[in-house]
Amino acid sequence: MSPSDVVVVGGSTAGATVLRDLRSRGYEGRLTLVDPEPGTNRPPLSKAVLADAAAEDSVLMDHSSLDVELVRARATGLDHAGRTVSTDDGAAHRFDALVVASGSRARRIAARGQTGELVLRTVEDARRVRERFSDASTAVIVGAGFLGLEVATAAATAGLRVTVVDVAPPLQRLLGDHLATAICERATTLGIDFRRSGAGLMGDPVRGVRLDDGEELAADVVVSCVGDEPVTDWLHGSGLETDHGVVIDDHARTNLSDVYAAGDVATVRTPDGAVRRPFWANAVAHGRVAAATVLGQPVDT
Ligand SMILES: Cc1cc2nc3c(=O)[nH]c(=O)nc-3n(C[C@H](O)[C@H](O)[C@H](O)COP(=O)(O)OP(=O)(O)OC[C@H]3O[C@@H](n4cnc5c(N)ncnc54)[C@H](O)[C@@H]3O)c2cc1C
Repeated sequence: MSPSDVVVVGGSTAGATVLRDLRSRGYEGRLTLVDPEPGTNRPPLSKAVLADAAAEDSVLMDHSSLDVELVRARATGLDHAGRTVSTDDGAAHRFDALVVASGSRARRIAARGQTGELVLRTVEDARRVRERFSDASTAVIVGAGFLGLEVATAAATAGLRVTVVDVAPPLQRLLGDHLATAICERATTLGIDFRRSGAGLMGDPVRGVRLDDGEELAADVVVSCVGDEPVTDWLHGSGLETDHGVVIDDHARTNLSDVYAAGDVATVRTPDGAVRRPFWANAVAHGRVAAATVLGQPVDT
């Protein structure tokens, strides 16, 4: 039976795709979005928004044309038997289909109680990092993945002396030797220095990093770009199967009937174990599949 009451938790790339595709596929029932934040298109945060405050508005999403009931609250629990999602404003929201699209948050490496760690996940994070760059002369970026190198490039372009620290060679795992070497050579021409080591944050508030051999690198700005963690805490005790994220099949179905998941929060079982792919195109693809599955339609229509 086709649902008439769909709740989507999380309204950024994956959730927004679900909302849009449900409507474009002809769904006319009730559509509720639960999200305490405005939907955000994150890729520009480490590119245009780090360079220019004027780009901030362009990343915020607007779902108002989709006849969506917007609940500006955080989901705190899922009662599958009762088919409700509870929120931190004390309300409960009934559904006959639920899409979990609560994404991920930046992983942090600060010690308990240590203040001043910078990460980059939200518009506020990007604003904070950009403002710190504006009156700094040195930066250390922990993590040499895509995000770390983008932040390093923004810092170098802003005129800072930049060191990137990672236990692994930059981008090699993601891109292989050839491309990774080419990108690093380009980064080096911008004055970015690479150090191969683990790094712990130093000082409170943070004022540098300590490498594995004890060497200390002081810096005006330190940004941790060490990956992300799926936002699944609100689902604890719900019976939803998780394994480094909410486990879904090829149709975005979870182990619970009428509950689907999409985007950075979702993980797919493979022969090599649970795999989560926290990339924009994956969030869109999951969102499209989830919308089709909710309506019992094939994906390619
Ligand atoms: C700075 C940055 C740059 C990036 N650049 C690229 C790039 O160049 N290319 C690329 O492919 N990918 C990039 N990515 C990754 C890409 O942005 C993500 O894969 C994508 O944002 C995932 O979308 P999502 O909707 O699954 O999750 P998210 O974007 O994390 O959205 C989750 C939503 O859920 C909401 N939410 C969380 N918890 C709750 C709760 N309890 N209740 C209700 N709502 C909740 C949040 O407020 C948020 O709106 C980048 C990511 C970042 C942070």
